[in-house]
Amino acid sequence: MRELYQELILDHNKKPRNRRAMADATADADGFNPLCGDKIHVFVKVEGDRIADVSFDGIGCAISTASASLMTTSLKGKTLAEAREIFERFHAMVTGEPGAPVDEDALGKLAVFQGVCEFPVRVKCATLAWHTLKAAIERSGDAVTTE
Ligand code: ZN
Repeated sequence: MRELYQELILDHNKKPRNRRAMADATADADGFNPLCGDKIHVFVKVEGDRIADVSFDGIGCAISTASASLMTTSLKGKTLAEAREIFERFHAMVTGEPGAPVDEDALGKLAVFQGVCEFPVRVKCATLAWHTLKAAIERSGDAVTTE
């Protein structure tokens, strides 16, 4: 099981989904994780209360890139309320106790990041794209830092 998870993370790091700039984004934001050096720019197109499209660009470690990639595939087409709920579950999982039960039905492929909670220094890598998207949607316009 663990090997399968690692393979999925490596695959999304090697071939990130939705890594592209978005010309018609309705919001975007910068994110930076100084602990690791991960830099990300997240683009989102919101139509009504739905995420019509989401993409990212940037340079980061395997965990941050794979997390951004899986975030885009998980949230595209979701409502803002659904996206918020997924983010909260994801955040609870990666900051939770190692071995705590994970709702794999609700999280889908994002459950591959459950091992991250054993490595506190990696939590910020895994959550950077999510915090940055949240900031973009809230239209703060300010750069986000995990510090
Ligand atoms: Zn990182």
